[in-house]
Amino acid sequence: MKLLKLKAGKERSLARRHPWVFESAIAKGSGDAGETVRIESHEGKFLAWAACSPASQIRARAWSFDETQRIDAAFFHARVASAVNARALFDLQSDGVRLIHGEADGLPGLIVDRYGAGENAVLVAQFLSAGVERWKAVLADALLAATGLTRLYERSDASGREREGLPKVTGWLRGAPPEGASAPTDITIREHDWNLKLDIATGHKTGFYLDQRDSRLRFAELARQRKFKRVLNCFCYTGGFTVAAISGLRAAGALAGAELISVDSSQPALRQAEANLALNGFRESDGASATFLDADVNATLRRLIDEGQHFDAIVLDPPKFAPTVAHAERAARAYKDINRLAFKLLSPGGVLLTFSCSGGISADLFHKIVASAGLDAGVNGYITERLGAAPDHPMTIEFPEGEYLKGLVVVRKLD
Ligand code: SAH
Repeated sequence: MKLLKLKAGKERSLARRHPWVFESAIAKGSGDAGETVRIESHEGKFLAWAACSPASQIRARAWSFDETQRIDAAFFHARVASAVNARALFDLQSDGVRLIHGEADGLPGLIVDRYGAGENAVLVAQFLSAGVERWKAVLADALLAATGLTRLYERSDASGREREGLPKVTGWLRGAPPEGASAPTDITIREHDWNLKLDIATGHKTGFYLDQRDSRLRFAELARQRKFKRVLNCFCYTGGFTVAAISGLRAAGALAGAELISVDSSQPALRQAEANLALNGFRESDGASATFLDADVNATLRRLIDEGQHFDAIVLDPPKFAPTVAHAERAARAYKDINRLAFKLLSPGGVLLTFSCSGGISADLFHKIVASAGLDAGVNGYITERLGAAPDHPMTIEFPEGEYLKGLVVVRKLD
C-alpha cells in the first residue's frame, strides 16, 4: 500500500473530513493514477484512504476516513446505493434526477444523472477524477444494480478531465445498441408539470441543467402572481425558464399579449428550446409571442438598452465565469457587467433572477457584485429571495465548496 505523508500541520482539513489533499500539503510519497493510497499526518497518524491524481494539484481525494475500511468493489456498491437511496429524502418533482453529486455523495469526481422514468430511463455519468476513472467498471455495475436500469451513457468530456491528465471519452458504457445499430440519445423528462426534451449525447454536460429545477418552478410562480408582460430569458439553453414563465402566465390567464425573448449563443440549444415550447402546448393561438435570439447576451442587452426596451422579468443564468477562486476577479467584472445592463432594462416593479454557478464566487461576493451593478445602473431594488441548487445537488457540512450555484431575486423599486 502506497503512502502519502503530509507536511507538518497540513492534516487539519482532512481531520475536518474535507476530502481534498493538495500537492502543496504533501511531504513525501506518490501513487499511480487512481491508485488507493494511505494518507498520514506528519506524525504518522492515519487520516484517510484516498485516490491519487498524480497529474492534478488536487493530488488525492479521500474515499474514507475509517482506517478499517477496505476500498474495494463492495465499498463502491454501498456508496452508490446509499447516494441513490438518499434521493428519496428530497421532494424532487421530476424524473430527471442527479443521483450522484461527487464529493457530497462520498464519490469525488463522479456525477451521475438519471433521465426519464420506466423502461426509457437512462443514466448519464461523468468520470472527472483519476480515482473514479480507475473504478469505472465497478461503478457502472453498481449504478445499474442500485437503479435497476440497463443503459448508461458516458459524458466524460468536461474540461476537468484535462487537469486530471485524462482523455475525453463519450459513448455508451452499458446497454450499448448492437454493432451497426444506433440508439436514440434524445429523451423527454417530466419536470413539475412540464415536458422537457434533451439530448444526452450532444447537450451540455450530461444534457440538462437539473440544478435549476427549483428556481424554474419559482419563476413560474412569480409569473403567475405578477403576470409578466415582457420576459427576457438570457442564457436560455433549452428554454427551461421560458417554459416556466409560459406555464405561470397560462395558469394566471395572462399569456395572451405576453412577449417572451430567449437568448443563447448555441443554435442547437435554441432549436431545442423552441421545440420545448411546442411540446408544452405553446401555440400561435395563445396570442403571445416567443422569440429566440442566437446571439451574445452582453451585446444583446446593450442593443435592447439602445432601443429603449424594458422588461417585467429578466433571467440571467450565465455559464461558469470563474471555475476556481483564481478566476474570481475577472469573473466578478463579467458578472457585474451583465447585471448592470439587466438592471437598466428592468421596469419599475420588475423582477430580476440572477445567478452565478461559479465555485470561485462566494454567495457573499455575488451579493456584493449584484449590489454594485444596481448602484452603477442607478437602480434600487429589494432582494426578496436567495436561490440555490435543487436538493439532489446537495451541499454537505464537510464540503462547503459544494455551494456553487447561487441566485438572487431582485425586485426593482417603484422609484
Ligand atoms: N438557464 C438554462 C441553463 C443555462 S446554461 C436552463 O435553465 O437550462 C448557460 C448557457 O449560456 C448555455 O446554454 C450557453 O450556450 C450559453 N452561453 C454561454 N455564453 C454565452 C454568451 N456569451 N451569450 C449567449 N449565451 C451564452
